[in-house]
Amino acid sequence: MTLSIYNSLSRKKEPFQPRATGRVGMYVCGMTVYDFCHLGHARVLVVFDMVVRVLRSRGLEVRYVRNITDIDDKIIVRANELSEPIDAVTSRFIDAMHEDEAALNVMPPDEEPRATGHIQSIIDMVRVLQDKGLAYQGSNGDVYFRVRKFPGYGALSGRSLDELLTGARVEKDEGKDDPLDFVLWKTAKANEPSWPSPWGDGRPGWHIECSAMSTQCLGDHFDIHGGGMDLRFPHHENEIAQSEGATGKRFVNTWMHNGFVQIDEEKMSKSLGNFLTIRNLLADDPDPNRAGEVIRFLILLSHYRSPLNFSDGILGQARAGLDRLYAALRLAPAKPASALSAEVRSYEAAFQQALDDDFNTPSAIAVLFELAREINKASEARDTALVDELGCALKRLADVLGILYQDPERFLGIGSGSRSGVDGILSASEIENLLAERRQARESRDFARADEIRDQLEQMGVELMDRPDGSTEWRVR
Ligand SMILES: [Zn+2]
Repeated sequence: MTLSIYNSLSRKKEPFQPRATGRVGMYVCGMTVYDFCHLGHARVLVVFDMVVRVLRSRGLEVRYVRNITDIDDKIIVRANELSEPIDAVTSRFIDAMHEDEAALNVMPPDEEPRATGHIQSIIDMVRVLQDKGLAYQGSNGDVYFRVRKFPGYGALSGRSLDELLTGARVEKDEGKDDPLDFVLWKTAKANEPSWPSPWGDGRPGWHIECSAMSTQCLGDHFDIHGGGMDLRFPHHENEIAQSEGATGKRFVNTWMHNGFVQIDEEKMSKSLGNFLTIRNLLADDPDPNRAGEVIRFLILLSHYRSPLNFSDGILGQARAGLDRLYAALRLAPAKPASALSAEVRSYEAAFQQALDDDFNTPSAIAVLFELAREINKASEARDTALVDELGCALKRLADVLGILYQDPERFLGIGSGSRSGVDGILSASEIENLLAERRQARESRDFARADEIRDQLEQMGVELMDRPDGSTEWRVR
């Protein structure tokens, strides 16, 4: 195993060594379900799905846990706004999230624990922290973590307690002893969901949910914990304090954080009106299956730790790139090649090497483009054995990234069977009729008429591709 991963805790790339040979436990902070998933969520979903696929492709048995926060201030506010029960709101947005995941070809995690299903283990952990002097019930009834009692606090975010104290405030309704302390258990307010506890009726704070659920699903100490960059502080810093405070053991070996998503070089936010949900993006394309794969591909075109700057131009580039790969794959029949030559194996090695370097997907995708170029060359030279072999390698490597999983002709929209024509303008049979007329015009050497038909179709968004055998394929752009 030569895979190295950048560990946010040590701030360097480290060779990845699973705790138990051949087995990996991985926890990723999932969604707080009060709205539709946006592009930032899509990035978390796709990046860690890619990580799981790469680890599995190396023969590792991965247990992937991604939680759902289904009780939270934001959810309560949303349910009140909508005048709906909380569980109606959360179950609707959980269903929507699962649909979005499927469109992005994101595999379901092995376990998807929900906070409301783990209240007892949360209470147990808070009690242990209190017994160890790391937690106390404040003057307002809320239970807090006593940050100064946990010596390693600030290690993940690289901040000292003095730095953290600047800007820390105690709000009026809080009962903290120290501005640095954070809440573990909140006392019930009127008309809010609550559970009985040793500190009275209440509900868990957000940070403790993840400590309790990850420990319950993966044990006290596991391999990889991931999430978006914005969770590094305070959420993950607090998770370490809670878990290591409660167990006295190391919590996580490798911390992974993916970078932010920007829209046209601006931060994505509801107030700026540039908030892109996954379903809006899917709805913008006449073929949502294609749109989902384009978004996945666009996300993987950036290294997971770099900022991802989304724009229509970048979306178009991703679509064109994926078209190129599918066009090459289409030349290679689906039958597996028997043995791969040294030349083809060298592409596989370059691909593995790229991913070994902290999941460098842009470099790995560059290898796929090289393979596509070689397929086109081999096809022009009519070397079908080489086309088969290269096509087989392309498919196998693309599989590791979870791309090129659709039928190439369908993805490219080629032929009358795959598309219904141009919506409301031209049916597939009308397109076929015009193509027949164009063929006749060409046969009778009326090239002006043939070109006229081509231009007419192009204007309506139908692209024609003349094949060497004289036939013509079409697709709706
Ligand atoms: Zn979390």
